[in-house]
Amino acid sequence: MEKLDSCALITGGSRGIGRAVAVRLARPGRMLIINYLSNHKAAEETKRLAEERGAIVHLVPFDCSDAPSVQDVFAELQPLLPEGGIDILVNNAGIRRDQLMVTMEPSDWHRVIDVHLHGFFYITRAVLPSMVRRRRGRIVNIVSLSGVQGMPGQTNYAAAKAAVIGATKSLAREVARRQITVNAVAPGFIRTDMIADISENDYKAIIPAGRFGNPEEVAAVVAFLCSEEASYITGEVIHVNGGLYT
Ligand code: NAP
Repeated sequence: MEKLDSCALITGGSRGIGRAVAVRLARPGRMLIINYLSNHKAAEETKRLAEERGAIVHLVPFDCSDAPSVQDVFAELQPLLPEGGIDILVNNAGIRRDQLMVTMEPSDWHRVIDVHLHGFFYITRAVLPSMVRRRRGRIVNIVSLSGVQGMPGQTNYAAAKAAVIGATKSLAREVARRQITVNAVAPGFIRTDMIADISENDYKAIIPAGRFGNPEEVAAVVAFLCSEEASYITGEVIHVNGGLYT
């Protein structure tokens, strides 16, 4: 059996930015645990692409906002993990339920907060003990320009992302002495299913780079933050937005 030297968990890895991160982190000697909600076909494609690059891949569909599911999955994963732990965690799973505040249904408020903020908490809480014990770890939270600048129609989404930024900075200070770094990456408009309803033509004039970004351009930054070279960067929010917000 192949000797594994590292293990990465990517939430929302079936499509979009999560898939690009999974492919970018894939290499021989690394196990990738790829979470997603229900799109098995897309997840199989991510698995194929990551295996092509030499990684050992496990697909684990579950709702990251559901605490009992997270607990069950981690109990099942434990015996599979190399050296008993996950070294890299990318909290990426996400959804949009845009609506102006005056007409926003409580269910849309809660669902967005649940997936982004509570998902971050349940997963990170499950991964942290082994990182602390082994004194190594990289945590990258995918947030958003919306969580820093705000965006009309996104009070729920912006609140969730801003909360994750606050948690990123606090956790970074908690675990820095254990050689665990915690950072956030804040994309602007990135070409994925999540923003398929937004016309690039309508927005490109306000983006200094004159275009939307590609998932791979976000994944490159995530990969750097997950590398050994990024050992002295923690508590940061790195923007990937073509100059839209600086
Ligand atoms: P996407 O293409 O819509 O993919 C979303 C991913 O999240 C899918 O893998 C989906 O799984 C998964 N997911 C959704 N709800 C989940 C849940 N409850 N539990 C587990 N997995 C769940 O989105 P994306 O654009 O790549 O977005 C990735 C991250 O970047 C999100 O956090 C998003 O907020 C952030 N972001 C995106 C943009 C952008 O312009 N695209 C900008 C700023 C920030 P299924 O395939 O099974 O549905």
